[in-house]
Amino acid sequence: MPPEGADESGAQASGAAGAAASELYSAKPCPICSRPSVKRYHPFCSRRCADVDLHRWLSGSYAIAGREEEDEDGEGQGGETR
Ligand SMILES: [Zn+2]
Repeated sequence: MPPEGADESGAQASGAAGAAASELYSAKPCPICSRPSVKRYHPFCSRRCADVDLHRWLSGSYAIAGREEEDEDGEGQGGETR
């Protein structure tokens, strides 16, 4: 009989992830200002840039929405994640 309860188990934290995790996320730069992107606003560097892109995207979307015909690049319909 062991004196005290087994105290050596369950110490398996799946580490090795987030050790050198800085603010930088990917190697891809911000598509708006070409600065290093941040994980939080991936793939942008800041919320501002994300916002800028969003507006661009919406504008383009609206512009295209009026005339959806030929020339589908394959990522126009149903390819919208989120
Ligand atoms: Zn940016």
